[in-house]
Amino acid sequence: MNYKNIRYSIIIPMYNEEAVIVETYRRLKKVMNEVAEPYELLFVNDGSSDRSLEIVKEYSDWDNRVKVIDLSRNFGHQIAITAGMDYASGDAVIVIDADLQDPPELIPNMIEKWKEGFEVVYAKRTKRKGESLFKRVSASLFYRTLRRLTDVDIPLDTGDFRLIDRKVCDQMNLLNEKNRFVRGLVSWIGFKQTAVEYERDERLYGESKYPLKKMLKLSLDGITSFSYKPLKAATYAGVLLSLSGFIYMLIVIFQKLFTDSTVTGWASLIVIQLLFFGFVLMILGVMGEYIGRIYEEAKDRPVYIVRETLDKKEQIRSDNH
Ligand code: UDP
Ligand code: MG
Repeated sequence: MNYKNIRYSIIIPMYNEEAVIVETYRRLKKVMNEVAEPYELLFVNDGSSDRSLEIVKEYSDWDNRVKVIDLSRNFGHQIAITAGMDYASGDAVIVIDADLQDPPELIPNMIEKWKEGFEVVYAKRTKRKGESLFKRVSASLFYRTLRRLTDVDIPLDTGDFRLIDRKVCDQMNLLNEKNRFVRGLVSWIGFKQTAVEYERDERLYGESKYPLKKMLKLSLDGITSFSYKPLKAATYAGVLLSLSGFIYMLIVIFQKLFTDSTVTGWASLIVIQLLFFGFVLMILGVMGEYIGRIYEEAKDRPVYIVRETLDKKEQIRSDNH
């Protein structure tokens, strides 16, 4: 293998991470210097409104390993990763959170596995420290539901902290769906995969950039991109309900013909009405989720828009011309 060709691209999506980014840079540098092979740090600024961008821009001024992709607004974590993958040029691409919840010190272990021949090395959390009970329970529930609903083997309790081979990255870049659930897509692509385990640390500074709304969007994207079982469930529920309706009809007719119990069932009527109406709305909602996504795909807008990229190497190259 040609030593010079081995390069690592580290993708760091960041959204208002000014409190932590200095430390993230320092720890990544330390780890990657120990690896002692060429690498690039690709900071993707996902529309931060704080000083995150200025800080990494400054790094890129003196450190030609630092590259910056500045998105035109906040597109979300998954899209920021996607932008990073499009720009990454390494033979292996590593995605890591900016908040140091994913320890950079695990990267050498991932690289080791990659050198053993694995094409995807994902980091599996054995523990999640300092996260609320709600986050832990909802995350665990989400990964398990997702697993039951989809046919793709998406590993439990893994986030986007992972190393992927150039081949996998190229395939990722060919997928142009808009509502992206990156870890699902990586599993869908396949190749030889393995895990390294770690304990997820507390976020070092700042607070989670994943409010409930973004968490819900991520889980809906995950489920709807990889399964249409919810639509099937709607059909089954419909069949079940009409069946029970039919049986109830028989009972009512029987009562009318053979007993003299008078019609007293206002309460049961209203309850059934409310229940069924709620059900119908829910099923419509499920369909809406899918139709909305079809609509997004049909519009075929670009997945993200870049304001500018900073790449010292490219600048030097164009200076020479
Ligand atoms: N992030 C992003 N865009 C967003 C939200 C988050 O690029 O709209 C980044 C964020 O800066 C961090 C990573 O995605 O590097 C994970 O976010 P966070 O740590 O807030 O999520 P949590 O760990 O709480 O799930
Ligand atoms: Mg975090």
